[in-house]
Amino acid sequence: MSKVFKKRGKRCCICGKPVFSIHSMYCHTHARLAYRMKERRFPPEAVEGVWNYLRANGDRCFYTKLPLEMEDIRSPWFCVFDHLIPLDPRKIVLTCALINEMKSALSVKEFWYYVQQLADYIDNGKKIKKIKLAYWRQSVLSEKRGHVPAAFDVMRGRGKKCCLCGRPVFNVRSKYCLRCSHFVHRLEMQGFDKRVVEDILDHVRTHGFTCFYTGMPLDMANDRSPWYGVFDYLTPGDPSKVVLTSALFNEMKSDLSIKEFWYYIRQLANYKRNHTRIRKKKLVYWYRLTPQELRVKSLRD
Ligand SMILES: [Zn+2]
Ligand SMILES: [Zn+2]
Repeated sequence: MSKVFKKRGKRCCICGKPVFSIHSMYCHTHARLAYRMKERRFPPEAVEGVWNYLRANGDRCFYTKLPLEMEDIRSPWFCVFDHLIPLDPRKIVLTCALINEMKSALSVKEFWYYVQQLADYIDNGKKIKKIKLAYWRQSVLSEKRGHVPAAFDVMRGRGKKCCLCGRPVFNVRSKYCLRCSHFVHRLEMQGFDKRVVEDILDHVRTHGFTCFYTGMPLDMANDRSPWYGVFDYLTPGDPSKVVLTSALFNEMKSDLSIKEFWYYIRQLANYKRNHTRIRKKKLVYWYRLTPQELRVKSLRD
């Protein structure tokens, strides 16, 4: 049927390719995009903004100008929506799943700032300077914050030191200070292998509460901080090696191996500095959806 209509020459109002049905204003790709935007209930001005962008630039990532994958939802280059300003629904841009994950809850400015800081760290050993993040809000974790209740102060000072960090223990019966006691409890709750746990504790003994990847000091008390210490599989999906990192870095790394992560940080930093085209590299661990989720999604699409 569509062949007949193609002959009538009706064209997609966005890209000019033949429409997929005479009742549609769009080609197949853009009809699907229109459906996805409708499903997400974006405000009309946001939808209009997306169409204007596509008319001017084609199917390309807003941040990196990389061509977007419009069909394969498992691809790291799959076209996804991103709030230009986190939480502000009025301006939606198109980006690829990978950049969307790396950007996480950062504003555009914050994202490029950290890309360049990270690139400078890995290439030139420069210390990463923290800036305050305007939109970062981790969901509240189920565990209690690690603030020191006043009552514990009384117990301190009998000279017994925390076996992890050397601070005074919070209770004479404990091996740990309060901060480390909370941390060890969190660690135990994860159900990691004994050897994995020992590795993490070794890291804390030697380097303190610092990020395994960047050496940055971690915040072990405030779970809403971007620098809150979290556990990260060194290799996505592989529980045999777990390291400490910050919540922000953990989000930015998403499902990348550490090699892939630094590769893309360098590529992005180069793109920003010198407008060098970003070279795609196949990602080994990029599995954002399980086969079942994939089936459900493709049924809806
Ligand atoms: Zn089209
Ligand atoms: Zn301690």
